[in-house]
Amino acid sequence: MADVVSPIDARVLTRVAPAAPAEVDAAVRAARAAQPAWAARTGSDRGRILHAVADLIEARVEELAETETRNTGKILSDTRREVRRAAGSFRYYAGWAEQVRGETIPVGPEYHTYTVPEPHGVVAGVIPWNVPFFFAAKKIAPALAFGNACLLKPAEETPLTALRLGGLLAEAGVPEDLVRVLPGGRETGAALVSHPDVDLIVFTGHHDTGKAIARAAAAHLTPVALELGGKSPQVVFGDADLDRAVDAVVLGVFASCGQMCIAGSRLVLHESVYDEVLDRVAARVRALRVGDPFDQATDLGPQITAAQRDKTLAFIAESRTAGRLVAQSALPDDERLRDGFYVPPTVFDRLDDGARLLREEVFGPVLAVSSFRDDAEALRLADDTDFGLAAGVWTADIARAHRFAGQVRAGTVWINTYRVLSDLVPFGGVGLSGYGRENGTEAAHLYLRPKSVWTSLAGGTPQGYGLGGAGAAG
Ligand code: NAD
Repeated sequence: MADVVSPIDARVLTRVAPAAPAEVDAAVRAARAAQPAWAARTGSDRGRILHAVADLIEARVEELAETETRNTGKILSDTRREVRRAAGSFRYYAGWAEQVRGETIPVGPEYHTYTVPEPHGVVAGVIPWNVPFFFAAKKIAPALAFGNACLLKPAEETPLTALRLGGLLAEAGVPEDLVRVLPGGRETGAALVSHPDVDLIVFTGHHDTGKAIARAAAAHLTPVALELGGKSPQVVFGDADLDRAVDAVVLGVFASCGQMCIAGSRLVLHESVYDEVLDRVAARVRALRVGDPFDQATDLGPQITAAQRDKTLAFIAESRTAGRLVAQSALPDDERLRDGFYVPPTVFDRLDDGARLLREEVFGPVLAVSSFRDDAEALRLADDTDFGLAAGVWTADIARAHRFAGQVRAGTVWINTYRVLSDLVPFGGVGLSGYGRENGTEAAHLYLRPKSVWTSLAGGTPQGYGLGGAGAAG
């Protein structure tokens, strides 16, 4: 049994038994057996059940958000939004269930050729601890909509709402063996992703884990999509709307106590606005309230674990010598929170070129600030990382904004905004931030694979490869 701990005060909430490799094996086999009947149902039938899941979630927003806040330490307004967004994902993919279609490809008069999109079969979803309920929904809803089975492994620190989602799925009429939430840590995850009967792996988490999963998947050539971390820049030009930029910079890195893959953890400022923006960000940071996430006045709660807190504190300690500490907020003085995993939001600038804070993901509330003189230097600094998840650009010059968006190495670029996401818009990274795309039409490409069907209309023996037309292939 593993303790599930609240980061608010280090209290043990409950104990959860990790799924042993034998249980993982049994769950994969059961899912494989259940999947064909699910795929054979009509899209509208699958969609109806996914809408029923959304109904059940929407009727329990408060309960789910409170459990999530207790388990993750994230403020209640954030977890409420995430629960609603999870329901929205079930509705969005419920719509997709009826929209699956292939295409007829007119290769020439001698053939009738078409594609049939087919589900992969058994999908393994592995998710991190920072947005547990929403990520569970983001893996399960598209897998089911497109006719797959789904086995979901939540992070061992935060299994509670994912397990609850498993119950809601059954209540909504999802066949029991089709979806299974498998709690546990690395061992459970490794057993799942290395199972030969898993047909697709969708992973969200750290890049080192992503590499381990890609290696495990290679043994069976299982396709994988990897949503990994980031070190995303927010670039502010001299002509930007600074009020909006400052708001977005502060929320972009300090919300969720910095535990966001898309955290805008590097602020890249044009020298003409450097002092002004830095002063304004610093003032906002000093005023941030770190504390009990159930308290409405709190801006950010604790980090998820003592280990994550210590990792962030180590970044802060070494950046004191690698750069200048510009601003830091206070820690809570509430005696009830004494054992919680709190860290102070902190801003550094004048960092040495080799400083880890400029290139490595902290996954905590720490901002690194640097300055640029011209567009070329802004782009060079923005790209000075192995990650490529997201970037923000702030300018009134729309041509410059689109030029930057076209050139920067990132899966998502926000112009004069930050941190907006939608089920409709593809999301994913490049470089150390991973590969594969979720959401929108890309989700259909991820969770389905096309089968091509050729029919001879003319008879006879096909000759050679076709070029723009049809012919025999070897
Ligand atoms: P992690 O990689 O340590 O763990 C993620 C999940 O993988 C957990 O469920 C864990 O138990 C499991 N796991 C660990 N080792 C495994 C193995 N060998 N085989 C199979 N599963 C294994 O990540 P974390 O620390 O929980 O989360 C933080 C990371 O997630 C950060 O790097 C963050 O940027 C990233 N993240 C990315 C996105 C995105 O969409 N790109 C979103 C959120 C978080």
